[in-house]
Amino acid sequence: MNRRILISGASIAGPTVAFWLARHGFAPTVVERAPRLREGGNGVDLRGQAVDVAERMGIMSQTRAVAADVLGMSFVNAANRSVARIDMQAIRGGVAGTEVEIMRGDLAAILYETTKDDVEYIFGDSIRTMEQDDNGVTVTFEHGRMRRFDLVVGADGTHSTVRHLAFGPEPEFLTHLGHYFASANADPGLGEQRWVTLYNQPGRVAGIYRSGTHAGAKVNFLFRSRPLTYDHRDVEQQKRLLSEAFAGLPWVVPELLAGALADPDFYFDALSQVRMGSWSSGRVALVGDAAHCASPAAGAGATLSLIGAYRLAGELSSAGGDHRIAFRRYEQGHRKMVERSQSSLFIGMIAPKSRPGIWARNTMAQLPLLAAMAAVERRLQPRALPLPDYELS
Ligand SMILES: Cc1cc2nc3c(=O)[nH]c(=O)nc-3n(C[C@H](O)[C@H](O)[C@H](O)COP(=O)(O)OP(=O)(O)OC[C@H]3O[C@@H](n4cnc5c(N)ncnc54)[C@H](O)[C@@H]3O)c2cc1C
Repeated sequence: MNRRILISGASIAGPTVAFWLARHGFAPTVVERAPRLREGGNGVDLRGQAVDVAERMGIMSQTRAVAADVLGMSFVNAANRSVARIDMQAIRGGVAGTEVEIMRGDLAAILYETTKDDVEYIFGDSIRTMEQDDNGVTVTFEHGRMRRFDLVVGADGTHSTVRHLAFGPEPEFLTHLGHYFASANADPGLGEQRWVTLYNQPGRVAGIYRSGTHAGAKVNFLFRSRPLTYDHRDVEQQKRLLSEAFAGLPWVVPELLAGALADPDFYFDALSQVRMGSWSSGRVALVGDAAHCASPAAGAGATLSLIGAYRLAGELSSAGGDHRIAFRRYEQGHRKMVERSQSSLFIGMIAPKSRPGIWARNTMAQLPLLAAMAAVERRLQPRALPLPDYELS
């Protein structure tokens, strides 16, 4: 039945697929490279079917209890005076009640706590090699152990090791979106409660994310750039790139930058999308950002991860563990939603590339136009396939 399943990555997609695999009678093991659960990141959205998945997991009341309550974006000038505001509640319109925004670290912690008693977790290790044969996959780990599994699931994000080993080198699948993104903890005193406060210069934006339900705050930086050459695991190098991009900016940028550079939860990455012709190769499948990262600019990573993980585990169960049938159905069911999310990006609005662009954005933000445009866009989107009900064993 392909019972023993190794999952690489313990963020959002990994623990969700582990939850459902365990519920369907499989024996999942999760390996996470970090020594402990990673807590960083801003608010992420759970929308539509992802809320249904979270309800079915029984985690929705915990999720709502720690949900962020940010009202929208406030654009300020160098003197910290608000020059435009975008009310996100109005833009979300009728769907506001069905969506939840939650800090990424809170969601990761809820998923881990919910699964840790039924799932084997290994922290501080990573898959080094994988060899598939007719009956399973032989895996060696960085720390030297060798183990045998029936299937492997890559839930290890944009720079997935599983994708690299089973499908090929990263550049074949990553599309650079012309920007870099960083986030870290920030001094909450610098931001306005319940708002994301943003300061723009052409092609650059720094912002403070401050929810009323959390004592702390997060800083975000986004800047335009051609592709940069750096090691995505060399944090010091990433900090240097960020410092160069934001050197000399006014507002509270120097304080935000100093705080971010000293923060162990510092996170930096290119805005990029993962696009693949297929999400499986033999006994290996990908889920979440590893398969189809839409980029933080789409605001859909957690939503797509929950739905994809639910479908992947459910299809394996309904196919009696036959991975060939299950992987095909998982992809058929999920791909349309992924393509739709990958086409909805908001970079131009957040970080206009010129002064006239910033002026135009600020002017548009004063008009009721954005809410109307968002409603039209929602109506024009192709409908996703309904969430299937999978029988639990
Ligand atoms: C620390 C952090 C901060 C983030 N901040 C933001 C944010 O501010 N805004 C935003 O939109 N998105 C953010 N993201 C991305 C967001 O979590 C994802 O877009 C989305 O939730 C999909 O999650 P995922 O589980 O597929 O991938 P990810 O959340 O990227 O998780 C991948 C996991 O795999 C682990 N991993 C990587 N390589 C290996 C390996 N070789 N072996 C084992 N484990 C491995 C990583 O440590 C991580 O825990 C962040 C991700 C992380 C890890």
